[in-house]
Amino acid sequence: MRALVTGAAGFLGSHLCDRLIKEGHSVVGMDNFITGSPDNIAHLAGNSKFLFIRHDVANFIFVPGKIDAVMHFASPASPNPTSPYGYTNLPIQTMKAGALGTHNTLGVARAHQARYLLASTSEIYGDPLEHPQKETYWGHVDPIGVRSMYDEAKRFAEALTMTYHHYHNINTSIVRIFNTYGTRMRLDDGRVVPNFIQQALRGEPLTVYGDGSQTRSFCYVDDLIEGIYRLLISNEHLPVNIGNPAEISILEFAETINRVVGNPAGIIKQPDLRLGDDPQRRRPDITRAKEVLDWEPKIALEVGLQRTIPYFREKLGAA
Ligand code: NAD
Ligand code: UDP
Repeated sequence: MRALVTGAAGFLGSHLCDRLIKEGHSVVGMDNFITGSPDNIAHLAGNSKFLFIRHDVANFIFVPGKIDAVMHFASPASPNPTSPYGYTNLPIQTMKAGALGTHNTLGVARAHQARYLLASTSEIYGDPLEHPQKETYWGHVDPIGVRSMYDEAKRFAEALTMTYHHYHNINTSIVRIFNTYGTRMRLDDGRVVPNFIQQALRGEPLTVYGDGSQTRSFCYVDDLIEGIYRLLISNEHLPVNIGNPAEISILEFAETINRVVGNPAGIIKQPDLRLGDDPQRRRPDITRAKEVLDWEPKIALEVGLQRTIPYFREKLGAA
């Protein structure tokens, strides 16, 4: 297979490129580095199975040669407005990556009659009124809310993907990704995992937004990539949740990181920094992933953190 991966220099995209190459496939990676980094794909330079094209997916995409799969991962992904890399600070780029980028990548899939995989998100469920979230849940999203440039772009992307499937008969798939962590996350994109790990490594108190009672369910990147690869090679067209159903409050998560790192500085609650529309609870129902892909996560939180922390330690040392 020869696959186009957009967002290839990002956290998930770069791990996906590695996995595809490991499986013997060739990859055309595409990125404009708006939130990603060349460091994440530097190890692929000179690899005959990897071609990189620097390009903004909001513009018409041309890829030389035959493409068998298109995987659209390009989009800012952090909600945190304290970071310049958060999507609220890149609102138009975020909407264009989700809308125009999805249109252009679907166009590539159509031209090549390729398998298509859209990276969607648990954010399409908004601040959910159903818990845990099944794929049949329609969501609870404010179309003009503070996170809407991301949530609604992804909802539009899903609608466009299904439209290409039904109208143009394209072999599409949609993964709804829940919070994932691991190496190559950007240190300064403001997401909770890089924030907490680097605060812990510096011996500072961890900044818990609000009272920390909000929950998330954290999936280690290797588990996620396994699920996404299985979806790619399946015949599934309907959305599939991929994430870890082990739910934890942000307060407990902070305490876990402090324990694993050995940080005595504790936590500091920052009620004012809690985002508007910050989902109070989030946990995937992964019944479909189990049934359709025979997939479930294998890596426990503390194990995944032990694998992730050395990366941040090294990056901080270099910073
Ligand atoms: P990331 O910021 O590390 O990676 C995104 C990549 O896309 C970056 O390299 C960025 O430069 C690139 N990009 C953005 N806009 C682009 C454009 N217009 N043209 C070309 N490249 C562009 O984020 P990530 O966590 O790896 O997220 C990847 C995808 O997965 C995103 O679509 C995101 O919405 C989705 N997702 C991630 C998570 C998660 O927990 N990491 C959860 C849900 C969904
Ligand atoms: N959060 C926090 N401290 C931080 C960063 C984030 O308490 O330094 C909280 C945030 O309010 C949210 C959760 O952690 O409730 C997850 O935030 P993240 O930015 O990782 O992404 P989200 O899951 O909201 O998309």
